[in-house]
Amino acid sequence: MMLENLRQEVFESLIELPKNRLVTMHSGTVSGRDPETGNIVIKPTGFRYDRLTPADLLVMDGKGKILEGSLRPSSDTETHLYLYEHRPDIFGIVHTHSPYACTFAVLGKPIPAVMTSAAMLGGEIPIGGYAAVGGEDIGSEIIRKIGKCSAIIMQNHGVYTISSTVWQATIDAVEVEDLAKIALFASLLGDPIKMTQAQIEEFQNIYHTLYGQKKH
Ligand SMILES: [Zn+2]
Repeated sequence: MMLENLRQEVFESLIELPKNRLVTMHSGTVSGRDPETGNIVIKPTGFRYDRLTPADLLVMDGKGKILEGSLRPSSDTETHLYLYEHRPDIFGIVHTHSPYACTFAVLGKPIPAVMTSAAMLGGEIPIGGYAAVGGEDIGSEIIRKIGKCSAIIMQNHGVYTISSTVWQATIDAVEVEDLAKIALFASLLGDPIKMTQAQIEEFQNIYHTLYGQKKH
């Protein structure tokens, strides 16, 4: 089987999605790109999370030609291919319709940076305009609007996180939903205090030097 390690990482990320209530039934997609070959591992379309195994995932080249796998790939494949092509720095993408983040998406509003966790995602989570599924429209809108953030919400649709690893994109997808939940509840009780740009940058500096285990 090709790209066993990447398959495993994409698989482990996929099963986190229902666990963290980011997806229901078949929705959501995870993909990862192999830095050496540029090949991509992606979820099959319309597949139950509780029956998924690493062997069910598809391997394709950067143009979408299937190299391994008999199932049909995610309906969101073209978005992922477009993002990988236009952002050589990213190696993992997660897409969900997580409900708290989508509450902002249906209002056409960004998710405000009301928690330090927002700083880790790049600050306020931008909102992308409505784009049709199944072509390059979503991908190009994401590239236009995401800026330096690792997450974006797309109007009337859902959340995309992009990162240097599949696992980090998965963590970010969970963080976006938590942030949206807190911002939403806070707005019900008053006017949430947004972090300033200086506070966001200060937190980013601290986070990058102090947080996490050293990589081996
Ligand atoms: Zn979607």
